[in-house]
Amino acid sequence: MRVCAKMRCSQEPVATVSLAYTERMVVVHDLSDERDPNLLDLCPEHVRRMTPPVGWVVQDRRTTTVAV
Ligand SMILES: [Zn+2]
Repeated sequence: MRVCAKMRCSQEPVATVSLAYTERMVVVHDLSDERDPNLLDLCPEHVRRMTPPVGWVVQDRRTTTVAV
């Protein structure tokens, strides 16, 4: 079973997050079908609590709307 990438979090991930260093962008995608070690799978709580590095922007490209 896949779990959230945050340490000590055992929630099921709902989104996959990638970091685009050249664009200084944190991109939130729909959960990828396969686990990719370069990407972060995050649970709803950690997606909400995610804070990008200073000067970075967060772009949510998810096609599914997650009701909060
Ligand atoms: Zn989590």
